[in-house]
This record gives sequence, C-alpha cells and structure tokens, in this order.
Amino acid sequence: MSYHKKEEFDKEPTEELIKTYRSIIGLLGEDANREGLIKTPERMAKAMQYMTQGYQQDAVAILNGARFQEEVSEMVIVKDIELFSMCEHHLLPFFGKAHIAYIPNGYITGLSKLARVVDVYARRLQVQERLTTQILKAIKESLNPQGVAVVIEAKHLCMMMRGVQKQNSVTTTSAFDGEFLNNHVTRNEFLKLISARLS
Ligand SMILES: [Zn+2]
Repeated sequence: MSYHKKEEFDKEPTEELIKTYRSIIGLLGEDANREGLIKTPERMAKAMQYMTQGYQQDAVAILNGARFQEEVSEMVIVKDIELFSMCEHHLLPFFGKAHIAYIPNGYITGLSKLARVVDVYARRLQVQERLTTQILKAIKESLNPQGVAVVIEAKHLCMMMRGVQKQNSVTTTSAFDGEFLNNHVTRNEFLKLISARLS
C-alpha cells in the first residue's frame, strides 16, 4: 500500500480536551479509569476536533479554486448531498441531505466543491437555519450566479433522544436568492426536481 492518510491534531488543545472529557466522564458518575473508558477522552477529543474542522476552512476559497468561465445559463442542481452536523444547543448530531442549485452567470464550479462547501459549514456548531444561509452566501459570493437555492432536510438527535422524543420528524429549511427568489416558475422547477425520486 502506498497511500497513507494521516490525521494530525495540535497538541495543546487536544491535551486540554482530553483532561476536560476525563472530568466530564467522572462527573457523569463513571470511572474514567476503567478499561473500556480509558482511551475515550482521547477519542472524544479527536472526534470533536474532526467534527468542528470547518472553522479552519474557507468555503469561498474552495469554490474559487475550481471556478471556470462557461457560457451556460441552465440550472445546475446537486441533490441528496449527505450532511452531518452538530446542533449548537445540545452538541448532538443532526443529519440529513442538502440540495443545492444555481443558475450560472458566466462561471461554474466543480460539482464536488458544492458538497465540500456543505461540509465546511456542517463541521461547526450549528443551527440548521444558519447552515442553509451560509452555504447560499458562499456560492453567491464566489460565482455571482443569476440565482442560488439551498434546501436542507434533517433529523435532529436532540429531538429524537430527548425533549419531545419525536422519532420521525424532519426539519426542512430553505434559502433562495436571485431568480429563485423572484421567479416562482424557476423556484417551482427546482423544488419539483429535488422531490422527484429516480427509480
Ligand atoms: Zn439541539
């Protein structure tokens, strides 16, 4: 095997997080030194830093890095982009799908970059509403398109495991700009296309 993916974590925050998680485990009534838990604080420290790595990433720079001049003005849609984020109120996951569309205005971007933009903002402490508009704004800033639309459907573990304990409720948020905001025919076409299931 010649491919190695290496994860790196800064020493200082990682050690501080390990100490803090060990203390949290103790405060929850567990013995942080028992065998099954002994490496848990370290795993948590690394997992949480992984899941919040978006703070160090720049969505507009990612889009600009694969921006190409192209005279097309047809709607570009990427739907069913898997999304995993963490609610900032309970630090519990919410997860689901993002659907993104834009109408180019001289520029297009790599399709995979749209999925990366979702990750940049999802890997932060979030609320679904803000996540939706941040994705929209990054695309608007980089591509200056004729219109952008973002729809996110997600399930929130903080609603499923605690609180109201609703297992099947899905929260949908949307943000529209330009043509998608001003032209209901365009908006409806997008909504129809993302709700159509290929069979
Ligand atoms: Zn929550």
